Amino acid sequence: PSPTPARYRIAAIPADGVGAEVVAAGRSVLDALAAGSGGAFSFDWTEFPWGSRYYAETGAMMADDGLDRLKEFDAIYFGAVGWPTVPDHISLWGLRLRVCQGFDQWANVRPVRFLPGVLSPLRAADRAELDWVVVRENSEGEYAGFGGRNFAGRGAGGEVAVQSSVFTETGCERIIRFAFDLARTRERRKVSSVTKSNAQQYGMVLWDEVFRRVAADYPDVETESVLVDAMAAKFVLRPEELSVVVASNLNADILSDLGSALAGSLGLAASANLNPERAWPSMFEPVHGSAPDIAGQGVANPIGAVGSAAMMLDHFGLSEQAGRLNRAIAATTAAGVLPRDLGGRASTAEVTAAIIDALAD
Ligand code: ATP
Ligand code: MG
Repeated sequence: PSPTPARYRIAAIPADGVGAEVVAAGRSVLDALAAGSGGAFSFDWTEFPWGSRYYAETGAMMADDGLDRLKEFDAIYFGAVGWPTVPDHISLWGLRLRVCQGFDQWANVRPVRFLPGVLSPLRAADRAELDWVVVRENSEGEYAGFGGRNFAGRGAGGEVAVQSSVFTETGCERIIRFAFDLARTRERRKVSSVTKSNAQQYGMVLWDEVFRRVAADYPDVETESVLVDAMAAKFVLRPEELSVVVASNLNADILSDLGSALAGSLGLAASANLNPERAWPSMFEPVHGSAPDIAGQGVANPIGAVGSAAMMLDHFGLSEQAGRLNRAIAATTAAGVLPRDLGGRASTAEVTAAIIDALAD
C-alpha cells in the first residue's frame, strides 16, 4: 500500500433518463476497483440532483451557486441531459454547456473503440486494427451561442434568425496543438484536420491556416486536411487511415456519433471534457444522451459511461488502473455479455457485474 492513500473527490451529476442508470454503473465499477487497490486509492462521491426534474421544481437546471460548489472537486462524472418536458436547448445550455464553459473544458476527447464480440457495420476483417479518437473543440465554433432572433431584413416577411460561429486564433491553436500532442502518444502519429472551409470562408479558413502553422512544429506527425463531408465517408470506407481527428464543435459532435455507431452503438462511446491547464475540474461522460425511449428499464448500455470512468482514471494519473478497466470491458464483450443495443440480452446490472468480475482476472 502507498504511504499516502490517494483520495479523489468526484462530483456525480447523473441528470436525466439513462444518465442515472449508467452513472450508477460507473460508480460501482470504480468503487470495486478502489476496494481491490489495497487502500492505495479511494473515491469520495458527492451526488448532485440537477437536471430536468430539478428544473420542473425550481425553474433552473442546476443550483445558482452550482459552479462554485463543483470547483472544489477533482473531477465531475456526468450522465446525460435532456427530457421531453424541457426544451433541449434549455436543458443543454442550463447544465452541461454551463459546466463545460464555466470550467473552460475546451478539449473534448472522444475515442472510437472497436470491441471484440460486438457486431459492427464494418467488415470484420477490417475491424481488428481500428482505433481512433475524435478531438472536439469544446468552447467556441458553432456552439458559441452567438446570434439572435427577430432580425429585420432580407427574409420574405418572416422572422430572421442568425446563428454565428466564432473561431478565435487562440481557440483553434490550443485544440490543434492538443491534437498533435495526443498524436505523439499514439502508435500512429497522424492528425486529420476537419473543416468545411470551402463553404465557410472566414472561421474555417482561419482554422486551416492555424493547422498548417502548428503542423510545422510537429514534423514527426503526419497530417491531412479533409472536408467534413469527405471525412464522414472516410469514417466508413477507409477508417484504417485515421488516428487523431480534430474538428470544430459541431463537426466533431456529428463525427463522433458516426464513429460510435460504426463501432456498434452510441452506448459504447466514452468522452472526456478536459480543462488541460487543470485550473478547473474536468468532466467525464458517455457521448450518448438521456435515451428517454429506454430510460427506467434497466437495459441501458453502461460501457460508454464505464469507459468514461476509465478516462477519468487516466486523468488522475492512474493509467494502469485505466488499462485494467478497459481490458475488463473488452473481456466482457468478448465473452458475449452484451446489452440490448449490441444485440444481446444482458441488463445494465449484468453487464456492470461482468465488468467487475473481469477486473479480478
Ligand atoms: P443528445 O441530444 O443528448 O445527444 P439524442 O437525442 O441524440 O441525445 P440519445 O438519447 O443518445 O439521443 O439516444 C439516441 C438513441 O440511442 C436512442 O434510441 C437510445 O435508446 C439509444 N441509446 C443512447 N444511449 C444508449 C445506451 N447507453 N444504451 C442503449 N441505447 C442507447
Ligand atoms: Mg445526440
